[in-house]
Amino acid sequence: MSDKIVYLDNNSTTKAAPEVVDVMKQYFLCDYGNSESTHAFGSNLQYVEQGARESLARLINGRPKNIYFTSGATESNNWVLRGVMKHSDKRHLVISAVEHPSVLNVAQYLEKEGYRVTYLPVTDQGVVRLEDLMTAATDETALVSVMYANNETGAIMPIREIGEYLRDKSIIFHTDATQAVGKIHVDVKRDNIDLLSFSGHKFHGPKGVGGLYFPLKKYVSGKLVRMQIAQFMIGGEQQGFMRAGTMNTPGIAGLGKAADLAYEHLSEHLVAGEDTGVSSKRDDLQEFIEENIPKTMINAKNAPRLPNTLNLTFPGAEGESIIDRLSEKGICVSSGSACTSKSLAIPYVLDAMGINHDIINSTIRFSLSRYNTTEELKYVRQVLPKVIEDLRLISGFKE
Ligand code: PMP
Repeated sequence: MSDKIVYLDNNSTTKAAPEVVDVMKQYFLCDYGNSESTHAFGSNLQYVEQGARESLARLINGRPKNIYFTSGATESNNWVLRGVMKHSDKRHLVISAVEHPSVLNVAQYLEKEGYRVTYLPVTDQGVVRLEDLMTAATDETALVSVMYANNETGAIMPIREIGEYLRDKSIIFHTDATQAVGKIHVDVKRDNIDLLSFSGHKFHGPKGVGGLYFPLKKYVSGKLVRMQIAQFMIGGEQQGFMRAGTMNTPGIAGLGKAADLAYEHLSEHLVAGEDTGVSSKRDDLQEFIEENIPKTMINAKNAPRLPNTLNLTFPGAEGESIIDRLSEKGICVSSGSACTSKSLAIPYVLDAMGINHDIINSTIRFSLSRYNTTEELKYVRQVLPKVIEDLRLISGFKE
């Protein structure tokens, strides 16, 4: 492996911001108490957790008291799907076919338990259609869970339209916003989102900490009604009995700091008329590849897309081989979600978009962050065309 590392796999995980690590150090080394303790050394830490709730709430335009901390989006998604279905007398769940495994596999588990699940298809651009949701969601439906943005393609789903449609209905609307929070403006009020999952390590916060936005109540036919969700982590009294387990104060403090940094970063770029500074770097790379590597397919090109994600199919070059060759040169990209690419022969997100099986495994994903430099992307331009050319030569592909 090369000494030089150009990290372009930020949808998988991100580097923690140095400011985040600085904040966390204090709560590991100095103020290391348990915020549930009676003594002030511990209980004062509740202010730190409250501060983090405020930071997270500002980032998604929710109320601080509705933020619950978890170990990450996998736990939040499990909590919602299992917790809502367990409590409801309705037995139907709607999700999209391109959800992350932490939603998809839980839905399949629930199906085995006797619940009915509808999997919404996506367009060839990887986007759910509101019409399909309108047909699928009925009086029998307890929960609709549609991701905010897809981790593989970056395609952004019509969350505002779905929220508007489900507003005031007795169906709970959850979105797994793990890939959207910190990258684009997410607004639970504007979008009428009931529940929202997020994860710190996707926006330069620490790994192993995330949360669930959970306001306890929603309007149904004009009246405020309690959303019934069973606890997922049962144990102590933390977080109002809703989520047991000693509070991860260093992680939560780091998560709050990451939310502040993301908020500042998003606001700065909103003034400049774009969602984040990474979009121009992604667009330049896309343009270069389109011009210099023939027959490249840009997946979800015409969908509203996360500013940092570029999903490409290079017919004639196998995805895993591209990754290996780039890795030898220090460039880290992915062929799909780290949780799925090892276990599934056919990438299900691209399959749902109707991509031909002959070329489906010739796909790789670049995902940038605000830390990537123009120099790094210049290096990718130098390396990538030759990698694809060599692999196409080996496979006998004719351009
Ligand atoms: N949902 C999506 C869309 C994701 O991309 C991921 C992480 N790959 C998760 C959920 C799981 O997040 P965590 O690592 O925090 O459990």
